[in-house]
Amino acid sequence: MTAPLDISPASCTQRPILRERGQREVFCGLTGIVWLHRKMQDAFFLIVGSRTCAHLMQSAAGVMIFAEPRFATAIIEERDLAGMADANEELDKTVKRLLARRPDIKLLFLVGSCPSEVIKLDLSRAAARLSKAYAPKVRILNYSGSGIETTFTQGEDACLASMVPELPAEASPEPSLLVVGALADVVEDQFKRLFEQLGIDRVRFFPSGSADDLPAVGPNTRFLLAQPFLGDTARLLEGRGAKRLPALFPLGVEGTAGFFKAAADAWNIDADKFDSVIEMPRARAEKALERYRDALAGKSIFFFPDSQLEVPLARFLSREIGMTLTEVGTPYLHMEHLDRELTLMPDGVRLSEGQDVDKQLDRCRAERPDISVCGLGLANPLEAEGLTTKWAIELVFTPIQGFEQAGDLAELFARPMNRRMRLAV
Ligand code: SF4
Repeated sequence: MTAPLDISPASCTQRPILRERGQREVFCGLTGIVWLHRKMQDAFFLIVGSRTCAHLMQSAAGVMIFAEPRFATAIIEERDLAGMADANEELDKTVKRLLARRPDIKLLFLVGSCPSEVIKLDLSRAAARLSKAYAPKVRILNYSGSGIETTFTQGEDACLASMVPELPAEASPEPSLLVVGALADVVEDQFKRLFEQLGIDRVRFFPSGSADDLPAVGPNTRFLLAQPFLGDTARLLEGRGAKRLPALFPLGVEGTAGFFKAAADAWNIDADKFDSVIEMPRARAEKALERYRDALAGKSIFFFPDSQLEVPLARFLSREIGMTLTEVGTPYLHMEHLDRELTLMPDGVRLSEGQDVDKQLDRCRAERPDISVCGLGLANPLEAEGLTTKWAIELVFTPIQGFEQAGDLAELFARPMNRRMRLAV
């Protein structure tokens, strides 16, 4: 018998929300480096951490043998933890060696970890000190990827938030659009084309590929969040005068159409033009989804809190694929940013925020969903119990946004179901 559920109403959606604070099973924010270092071609991520942090990064990113890596770990040794060495001095030496060897680095992130936070190493002061020494050739920023209070996608939020004060002020009085959140290049190119066809030409993406080409921001900037986990970044952009366009997240046909519609409305683009621009890609996406409905419609799905993509994914899977949502768990429910998503959530779904992993596992076992979306740490035990799982982290590593990727997104959920069926034969 599980303990009674702590359910409180959510003011803006009027939905009950189960809020849990207990043991969590999530990766830390360092993981974001895996996709961010691919996006920012002249940036380097120097983790100030332990051997555990280095191992996590190596296993998450794979060992890069052929290329010069764009991340590394400055290991805090036991003597540093015991306060026997001046960690700042060691860090300065490491940065000096790194920048001498790698003149291609334009932007260096000092990334905090649990050990650097435990010894209270002030990386913001270190970044300011080192910036003075290496400016203007290298910009040095810092953020925390520590697992003490984060879930893994918060690493991207912290990284982008650290860059917001560095963005130049927008000089033009013309409105501009900023798409915020790291997207695969293929998705970015498709989005650029669609904005162009709509007649929105001053469009920038953040993060950009180069530290020398940061997008400008100011009161005439309107921004669209491409990812639902960028609360701090959004707040800081608003602090620079930019205005967020409330929108769905660009997952699936409906989400992508809603995402572009928010921009089209802000630029007063008439409905006929909007429909004609998205007609073809929308039709292609709808066709791509058809083949997955047979396999997935009516199947039940349970989301453990992990990537913070859970709410828009659940909206897509229930409304466009016909899956049945049991529990949709997410590490944090950002009510303002998820407002439109939550209004489209079907009745009866259990929304949960935070985690008490044992209680949640009990609920999952009792429901025995057809598929559970969870972190790597839970996937193997659940598979061993005969439950089919999908690794949440794959959803962040794979290009899934936009019309052209809608089929690939559905495929990510169909694949584990097919594998399970084949194993059962
Ligand atoms: S930052 Fe913390 S949780 Fe992440 S790998 Fe290092 S020690 Fe582990």
